[in-house]
Amino acid sequence: MSAVPDRSRRALLLGRSQARAPLRPPWALAEADFVEACTGCGACIERCPEQVLVRGAAGYAVFDPRLGECTFCGDCADACEPRAINRAAVDVPWRTLASAGDACLPRHGVVCSSCRDACPERAIAFPLSTSVPTPVIDPARCTGCGACVSVCPVDALTLMQQEQA
Ligand code: SF4
Ligand code: SF4
Ligand code: SF4
Repeated sequence: MSAVPDRSRRALLLGRSQARAPLRPPWALAEADFVEACTGCGACIERCPEQVLVRGAAGYAVFDPRLGECTFCGDCADACEPRAINRAAVDVPWRTLASAGDACLPRHGVVCSSCRDACPERAIAFPLSTSVPTPVIDPARCTGCGACVSVCPVDALTLMQQEQA
């Protein structure tokens, strides 16, 4: 049985979205249009082979990179009948970028490069500028796939949404 989003909560969600929108599935419409179009059927969540989509607030799908990597296979978009996830209307999957926070081990003198090894785009470098190199993420390479997030032993990595160009 589908969990139809509580439409009375849409205004609240839209209000929140102006501060920081949740990480929706790739190719999701802009937040206001997404929550308007999405019926909460859960088809995208069920179809995702990587199982990285979950129900968020009010039943709307969100991408949780702690669960793994988005491979941009497009299955979620294909499953979305109301076209809330819409590859024809949205030019890039999303505008997110990985960012390492203060918990990052090398910042505390502990050698670690797990994120670099996990990144399929080779977007994470460790310049040899200090005795314990810290990660630097290339925004031109990072796709926001999330592969680095779940491998970080101290949950230092998050995906940050970028402003629209
Ligand atoms: S593009 Fe594929 S891997 Fe990524 S969220 Fe959609 S179904 Fe899952
Ligand atoms: S995996 Fe985590 S702790 Fe290790 S270098 Fe990357 S961000 Fe830092
Ligand atoms: S989000 Fe993906 S592409 Fe970006 S740094 Fe992490 S693993 Fe690499």
